[in-house]
Amino acid sequence: MLPVDVYVGLGSNLDDPASQVRRALETLGELPLTQRVGVSSLYASRPVGPQDQPDYINAVAHLATRLSPLALLDQLQALEQRHRRVRRRHWGPRTLDLDLLLFGKRVIATPRLRVPHPEMSARPFVMVPLAELAPALTLPDGRSVTTLAEPLRSPELIKVLPDHPG
Ligand code: ADP
Ligand code: MG
Repeated sequence: MLPVDVYVGLGSNLDDPASQVRRALETLGELPLTQRVGVSSLYASRPVGPQDQPDYINAVAHLATRLSPLALLDQLQALEQRHRRVRRRHWGPRTLDLDLLLFGKRVIATPRLRVPHPEMSARPFVMVPLAELAPALTLPDGRSVTTLAEPLRSPELIKVLPDHPG
């Protein structure tokens, strides 16, 4: 099987989120049958609701993989588990969330895996980093990621500088 271009969304808002995301970006490059092609900047956004929690940190990674979609999902979920030591509140915050956004141009609709990720095109913290990483990319339905990202840009989604301490 030829390698397929895939995009993975990363998110964290617990236990030093930026370091969770940076470590996960490194580990994605070590998955079997998979190469890391590129990564977006990290983006910070304030949590909605209670402010007594860290900023959300998000990023997107571009991989080229020979794994099947479900085998890649298995790998991503195993990596989540290795980061997910703490789960303080059942309704949300987590040390690492990995979403399989795009798997080539495939459309997958099974209970365990839906690709493209169903909410991605409306989420600023997915579409802005994705458009930075792959401005010419289109979704399987032909929509341009750059066009979709444009109205989602806002001052509340802040690019984290490489030497940012957070
Ligand atoms: P969420 O990301 O929606 O906050 P979880 O990370 O807990 O929630 O994932 C819930 C379930 O979503 C997983 O059991 C997984 O099988 C399923 N799932 C469906 N499509 C995808 C996808 N594209 N990427 C990641 N998980 C997915
Ligand atoms: Mg998820």
